[in-house]
Amino acid sequence: MIGKTGLRILVITWVLFVVAAPDASAQRTSIKPGINSFSPQQDIQLGRHAAAEVEQKLPMCNDPKVDAYLTKVGQRLVEHLNTRGIDYPWEFHCVNDKAINAFALPGGFVFINRGAIEAADSEAQLAGVMAHELSHVALRHGTNQATKAQYAQLGAGIMGAAGSLFGGAAGAAAAGAGNLTFGSVLLHYSRGAETQADVMGTQVLYDSGYDPRAMAAFFENLNASAESKGPPEFFSDHPNPDHRIERVETEIRKLGGVPEGAQKDSAEFEAIKREVAALPAPSKAKPVRPAGSKSGGLGAIPRPESPSESSEYLRYGKATIAYPANWKRYGKKNDVVLVPSGGVIDSGNGQGVLGWGVIAGIANRKEKNPNSGEALRNGTQSLIASLQKENDAMEVDKGPSDFTVAGLPALSTYLHNDSPAGGTETDWLVTVIGPQGLYYYVFVSPESDFPRFKPAFENIVNSVQFQTK
Ligand SMILES: [Zn+2]
Repeated sequence: MIGKTGLRILVITWVLFVVAAPDASAQRTSIKPGINSFSPQQDIQLGRHAAAEVEQKLPMCNDPKVDAYLTKVGQRLVEHLNTRGIDYPWEFHCVNDKAINAFALPGGFVFINRGAIEAADSEAQLAGVMAHELSHVALRHGTNQATKAQYAQLGAGIMGAAGSLFGGAAGAAAAGAGNLTFGSVLLHYSRGAETQADVMGTQVLYDSGYDPRAMAAFFENLNASAESKGPPEFFSDHPNPDHRIERVETEIRKLGGVPEGAQKDSAEFEAIKREVAALPAPSKAKPVRPAGSKSGGLGAIPRPESPSESSEYLRYGKATIAYPANWKRYGKKNDVVLVPSGGVIDSGNGQGVLGWGVIAGIANRKEKNPNSGEALRNGTQSLIASLQKENDAMEVDKGPSDFTVAGLPALSTYLHNDSPAGGTETDWLVTVIGPQGLYYYVFVSPESDFPRFKPAFENIVNSVQFQTK
């Protein structure tokens, strides 16, 4: 009874809040983030990891004066940004690249090309670009994209899943840099996301005391430069939505017009622009040398650290599994990829490929009888066929042979494939019919490193539990 009453009070308060909200927030457009299977903490982790890679691979301005100025403008905007209570570790860096572009990684790692600073006519225009980027972070558009990609990919392919999550065709910001974690998925926004970032960015600009028209003015500059020099790089990361400029102007009207005394420029901006113009020419992309590389018969690819003893728990579908606490987890409700740090390898064409880790999912959802040996065998065979379709070099070595998972009849199959780390890869496939269909686990490691990971793989299999109702 107490629980029920408490619940009711909560619901009523919430309804009142929703009803009251529009009065409190004038005319401005309210913007909601899209679906996201990542936690804000994962945004920060993913962004931090990718930012370290960006700094290693892209030529940075390395000018403390410029970075300090970007940080100052950025922090002024952040104060007026609705992050929904999330405290992001904001960082702002100048990239020594003359292409007009800027990008923000999930979690608040913002990179502004010198080309964007040079193309801005005023501090307000630069602040406009930055407010747009900050809005992508606050609305978590990067991992929203990744979430949508997972929904699309994990349903269709299996081995392709990790690849599509981590890379895909190189994003413009990462062109030529051999991107791994910050490819087209994290940075290639939809036009809907662009409009959201424009509208929210206009609000942030307005609230921070900048002339909000600067947002539209910067895009007009880009459009003008596109006519003479071709589309700027900015538009490949931030595709132009229809009526971009009109939408910004509409929002300014909703906000009540341009406030008197709104700031357009500053002497500091003009000084920074001169500072940037005097920077040395961009150097060629740095050679890629993985840090902390250990040799392990795998050439230049560093081996991931060994699985930790402590575990994290994961519920998906109607299963619970435990996995090493130092692994990362990606995926949606019913399809997950568990990866040790460094377990995804750059295939060399901007695509990230799973080298070490586990893909867990549910296939053949019609079959729910755990004791149907025939369904288990057929389901496993068609899964193997689809794995082989995605992986030309994949062949069965051993099995399927009888196995047990969570006390239910299961099958164990060993396959091999070409490893993205070089040499041969061992793929251990375990299948079992659980409450929602054929549960499968594909354990992946280079053959030479398989013994080191096998105990962790076995622990995962042994930890599988199904909810019975
Ligand atoms: Zn954008």
